[in-house]
Amino acid sequence: MAPRPRRPFRPQPRTLLPLSSAAHTAGTEPAPPPPPFEALGLSEDLLGAVRDMGFERSTPIQARAIPIALQGRDVVGQAQTGSGKTAAFGLPILERLDPAGPAVQALILCPTRELAVQVSEELTRLAAHRQAGVLAIFGGDPMSRQLTGLRQHPPIIVATPGRLLDHVQRGSLTLSAVRFAVLDEADRMLDMGFAPDVERILRQTPSARQTMLFSATMPEWVRRLASRYMRDPVTVSISGGTELVPQVRQWYIEASWADKVDALTKILDSPEVRIGLIFTETKRNADLLHVALLARGVDVTVLHGDLSQKERDEALTRFRESRVRFLIATNVAARGLDIEDITHVINYDVPSTPEEYVHRVGRTARAGREGMALTLITPIEILKVRDIEKHTRTAIERHTMDELDQLLQSAVPA
Ligand code: AMP
Repeated sequence: MAPRPRRPFRPQPRTLLPLSSAAHTAGTEPAPPPPPFEALGLSEDLLGAVRDMGFERSTPIQARAIPIALQGRDVVGQAQTGSGKTAAFGLPILERLDPAGPAVQALILCPTRELAVQVSEELTRLAAHRQAGVLAIFGGDPMSRQLTGLRQHPPIIVATPGRLLDHVQRGSLTLSAVRFAVLDEADRMLDMGFAPDVERILRQTPSARQTMLFSATMPEWVRRLASRYMRDPVTVSISGGTELVPQVRQWYIEASWADKVDALTKILDSPEVRIGLIFTETKRNADLLHVALLARGVDVTVLHGDLSQKERDEALTRFRESRVRFLIATNVAARGLDIEDITHVINYDVPSTPEEYVHRVGRTARAGREGMALTLITPIEILKVRDIEKHTRTAIERHTMDELDQLLQSAVPA
């Protein structure tokens, strides 16, 4: 297939509000919508950047974390990617940063290179009206590019822990001027084996720094990190995890176990399903499905944690650049994926928890676009769907394979 040109980024009004009140504690009254950014104490140039990005209102994590972080307090944010947490820590840092001050003033640690790139891009856009350079540093990227970047003395560094330590050891970067440290997706940092590196890095930064930690879950190590390396942090918890974006239409389709691959192939054959992310529960299922779809002539690749870094990069780049229409991924591999063009998220396996469902669905309808989430279920899995509906307080429409062609055409994502 010829590469499809990427659509230019055109900011449209973007509202990341919950589809339901799932972002607030279940059983309580739905919370009022979060305030506009103007009410959060940010300066005019940052408000301008936020407007340029098309953000209409703050998200719950932004509304609660920004005023606290602006006071210089440490913050523990329980929120996932998709909740708007990058701006929640990025805007207060940009507000308090001294553009003429020494490098490196702000250090953001991320568990993966994909997240590091995403966060640095978002921060660069937020900093559009400030003289504050942002550099991403991650493993697998040529040292020469990073060394050239470091010579510009960027005040903000977004890094994966291993490569950052390489630079510290080489002397190409020093952490003695760090005033802001952010640990992004701290629970995943633990999963990826970065716990010792993260602590080593924090110990090399001045203790007077402001520290912000974001994590979807709070395992013991993350709690310990907060008590050892943070000063009287304020905890901001957005229960229910990621918000669903309102433009996502959600359907489930019943198919017998034996018919699932055929059902999926039929969905993928539909021209309306332009760019799709397909989720499986396990790496093995991802591989099996990949082989089965390739054998049926589907334009598809696969991404999971057992592949080498090179293979993962290649799969992701092909998908990002629309050189392949479909990507099969496991939950972990797809965490944090922010690809604006995804029109459909397809759950080939029903996710095991409602949180995971919400997270997967959040991969479509990025940047204010519309999207669809289709979940294939075998008849007994209806209970899992009911559980998701209860948790997210939304209805997922039931459809049959026979209705599908007509339905897909009537619901073409923009
Ligand atoms: P994050 O959780 O920081 O990865 O953000 C997820 C996506 O939401 C990114 O594409 C952001 O640009 C976008 N976003 C962040 N804050 C807002 C907002 N207040 N309104 C609309 N979109 C937002």
